[in-house]
Amino acid sequence: MASFKALVVESGDPYTALLRDVSLDELPPGEVLVRVAYSSLNYKDGLAITGAGKVIRSFPLAPGIDFAGTVVESASPDFRPGDEVVLTGWGVGERHWGGLSQMARVKAEWLVPKPEGLSLHQTMGIGTAGFTAMLCVMALEEHGVGPGGREVLVTGAAGGVGSIAVAVLAKLGYRVVAATGRPQERPYLESLGAAEVLERGVLTAPAKPLESERFAGAVDTVGGAVLAGVLPRIAYGGSVAACGNAGGAKLETTVFPFILRGVNLLGVESVMCPRERRLRAWERLARDLPLNLLDASVQTVDLAAVPELAQQILAGQVRGRIVVDLGA
Ligand code: NDP
Repeated sequence: MASFKALVVESGDPYTALLRDVSLDELPPGEVLVRVAYSSLNYKDGLAITGAGKVIRSFPLAPGIDFAGTVVESASPDFRPGDEVVLTGWGVGERHWGGLSQMARVKAEWLVPKPEGLSLHQTMGIGTAGFTAMLCVMALEEHGVGPGGREVLVTGAAGGVGSIAVAVLAKLGYRVVAATGRPQERPYLESLGAAEVLERGVLTAPAKPLESERFAGAVDTVGGAVLAGVLPRIAYGGSVAACGNAGGAKLETTVFPFILRGVNLLGVESVMCPRERRLRAWERLARDLPLNLLDASVQTVDLAAVPELAQQILAGQVRGRIVVDLGA
């Protein structure tokens, strides 16, 4: 393939994101050349494409923080042409040419083999969002949160990370309460396995430093006032896996949930996640995410639709996950 299509972001005010032909020698150096079959649209891609967040560190650059595809050339003994691979994170789509491109050249150590039991399309239905949801579930489990006890809460539930967290936790046997600002998404959230849908406003209304102990744990994708409303409702010894800031980066709270109830606030980060934990998270996703629910929460689009959807994801208007078909 002498030239191929990519979405290329140029700096400016605002940024421009144009679909254009790119040649292989415009790709950065790297050990493995991958023909990208699918990428996905994450909140961070919305920030990168629109310039609403300073995500892209060098221009011009293809955004796209994850991709799945087939190895074309490899200078690494770990991968051979024809191998199916998945990448999330490592600064791809931020500092390094990203996945919203029909070809990508990356370090071998950034790639994982496509997990058994998932198609390339399904791996990007999961993508960075679903991978992060699983890291949140693992963090809660490692801090003693398990099914059969009190309920667990998922915030930003109708979004990408939230949808997959709801589906995985429900499959694992938790009673899941899904908090959303979009009450019209109740049927969708119930179809993913939510036992109850909570209006987001309940969490952002003024709260006492300690409210009634309700939840054993929470996956918080929203941050800000929502996270501040979650902490006082966590039961003694419970944990909150905090991974997102879709609703704000500032956290105004008190220390009382921590010092009077022993609540744990667990930070979850997916970009630099060590390889062994990555492989474990993907194995868990292949096992613990019902694939019929995944397929129902995914819409597939082509590259040309991405700039418009980037605006929508930042406005909190995207439901579930968006897979981008590179058609390569
Ligand atoms: P989505 O846009 O798909 O979902 C975010 C959800 O948050 C929305 O669907 C909405 O849920 C809610 N939301 C959006 N805006 C607001 C607002 N202003 N106030 C309150 N709630 C809001 O994004 P993703 O699922 O892809 O990502 C979620 C968050 O997780 C982002 O902040 C992202 O940057 C972060 N993230 C972090 C990672 C890490 O490594 N730590 C990796 C991946 C994502 P609803 O309509 O249900 O209320």
